[in-house]
Order: sequence, then structure tokens, then C-alpha cells
Amino acid sequence: MTTSITSLLRPDLRSRSPYGAPQIEVPVRLNTNEIPHPLPTDVAEAVAESLASTVTDLNRYPDRDAVELRRELAAYIGHRMTPRRVWAANGSNEVLQQLLQAFGGPGRSAVGFAPSYSMHPILAGATGTQWHDEPRAADFTLSSARITDAIRRWQPDVVFLCSPNNPTGTVLDVQTIVDAVEAFSGLVIVDEAYAEFARDDFVSAVTLLDEYPRLVVTRTMSKAFGMAGARLGYMIADPAVVDAVQLVRLPYHLSALTQAAAVAALRHREALLTHVDGIRRRRDDLVTELSQRGLKVAPSDANFVLFGGMSDASAVWRSLVKRGVLVRDVGIPGWLRVTVGTDAETTEFLTELSHVLEEEKNSP
Ligand SMILES: *Cc1c(COP(=O)(O)O)cnc(C)c1O
Repeated sequence: MTTSITSLLRPDLRSRSPYGAPQIEVPVRLNTNEIPHPLPTDVAEAVAESLASTVTDLNRYPDRDAVELRRELAAYIGHRMTPRRVWAANGSNEVLQQLLQAFGGPGRSAVGFAPSYSMHPILAGATGTQWHDEPRAADFTLSSARITDAIRRWQPDVVFLCSPNNPTGTVLDVQTIVDAVEAFSGLVIVDEAYAEFARDDFVSAVTLLDEYPRLVVTRTMSKAFGMAGARLGYMIADPAVVDAVQLVRLPYHLSALTQAAAVAALRHREALLTHVDGIRRRRDDLVTELSQRGLKVAPSDANFVLFGGMSDASAVWRSLVKRGVLVRDVGIPGWLRVTVGTDAETTEFLTELSHVLEEEKNSP
């Protein structure tokens, strides 16, 4: 008997496509919001030492509760956080998945505000959580009224907010987050993957956690820490939320090597985070440069910039790839997202973009 594998697949997964930032080998890769700098040598050495001393103990399972790592993360976050209120996993994506496994699932729903991080609906789908996409305003801002209206209409179990938002760079003020929490009785997840890049007046949702136990803030070492390859993300939440995800996490989910690398990196966090100021400056310069080219630019508090006003953004994307520059087509008609790279990469991007836009203007 011949049975197609597709017909065996869960019906709700059949029409879905996997997360996929194109992995194309070009000289200038500005498409996945990584830090363009390798780890500083002294930090790399500390991480290597920490890994080396772990290797002989690999016959044993790792610390299931990652206590030392959570202690370092709590110290980094500040605001009197304790390890009880921190939980880590293989990237903040895994944390988000665990949250949906525990608080979403079949018969439950989540709301997000598009355009936002494409993994939120993918994780909802994978966990059988019904997903509702609500649009942001035309300038990509998100008001309390829009959030509370969506909550009233959908009666979700989980609300996803993202601040600074990927791919727009837009931030939410704390009052908007409070309004969301108070609009219903479910869980509000604030994805703060880019918090470290935010401008000076940004206030993290972490400051609200004491007062609002239904609020969860997720962070990552993939972005500002420049450790995307290590796969370490975490959440800061009420201890009851941390307890809840224990029910769904895999035993020993975080390898001893990951824990050792992350602990060593966190002990050198000052050195790791020194480039954040430079990236923020280059981000602001990039916004200016793109505006001067007559493009629309979304104000950014992240390490990327969303720029628009192109008649055919996908054509611009393809022309840039041909010229050795990879940016991200996030599927917003007329807009593309570019990650802040090194000075040289940013200059190369701007030069090639000018050529491409000039060609477009001159083609019939
Ligand atoms: C990059 C990113 C993450 C990070 O995911 P990791 O799994 O921690 O690498 C999370 N949320 C958003 C919005 C992102 O852009």
C-alpha cells in the first residue's frame, strides 16, 4: 500500500511553510540581525576554557535547572531579579515554544500585531494554538486602543507584543503594555530580543514584572551579545510561570556546553556589549542616509532598519543579492529590512542600493 507522507501529516500543518531566512553566500550579509563582529579574543578564550573544563564531565547529564546560568542572567537583568524568576532555553524561540505549549495549545488562541516576528505565528501553529494577526497602523505603531480592541474581539489566551518590534524597530511604552495586561485575564508575552539596542528613553517591560505576574519578558543572547551561534535565550517572569514551563520542557534541554559557554560569556558581559553603542550610532546614521536617498524609513530602536518607498522591493532585493549584498524581504510590499553591519558593510550596502535605485529609475 502506498501512502504519501503528506497525508500522514497533521492536517493543520499541511499548508504551512517552515521559517526560512535565505542562507545565501554573499560578501555582505545583513539579513538576520546578527552582530557583525566576532567574539572579542579575551571573551572567546574564557568561553573556550569554560567549555574545556566541561568536556570531561560530558558523561553526566547537565544541570537540569541551569541554576548557575540563571543566577548570571538574573544579575545581568538587575531590577532585583532572582534565578527563580529567570528561565533559559536554546534560544528565546524555545522559550516561546515552551510558553505556548504550557499556556496555548489546542482550543486556545494567541494574538499578535503584524508586521512582527514571523516565528510567533509559526510557533503558535506548531503547538496547535489558534493564531490571530491584527494589523499595526500604517506607520507601524501600535496603540493601546488597537491592542485592547483586538483582545476584546478575539478573547485570546496569550497576547504577543514585540518591543523593539522586528521587523519595524518600533517600541511600545510601558503604559501600552500595562493596558494590554489589564484588558484581559491571559498571558502577555513581550519579546524584547532587541532591548539592548533601544534608544535612551526606552523602558523595559522588566520594570513591570513585580506588579504584573501575567507578564512575561523574553530576551536572547543572539543579538546584542553577538552569540547567535550559541543558542541561548531566556525569559524573566513570575516564579509560577517558570514552574509552569517545567511541565513541558524536555529533560536536560540545555546542554552542559551551552550552559558553560553562556555562563562564561555573561561573566564577560561588559566586553561583549561594548559594540552596542557603536551599532546604535551606525543605526541612527543609516536612518539618516536612507532618508536622504528619498526612502521612507521606520524609526528604529533595534540593530536593523526597515526602509520603504520602493515600487518593487523584491526586485531591489534580487538586484542587491546579485551585487553581493543580502538584506531581508520581510513580505511588506515596498519595504526591505537591513541589519546594521560594520562600517564597511554599511557603506557597501548604501553604495549598491544607490546603484540599484538609479537603475530602477532609468528602466522603463
Ligand atoms: C532574533 C529574534 C529572536 C531571537 O531568537 P533566538 O531563538 O533567541 O535566537 C527572538 N525574537 C525576535 C523578535 C527576534 O528577532
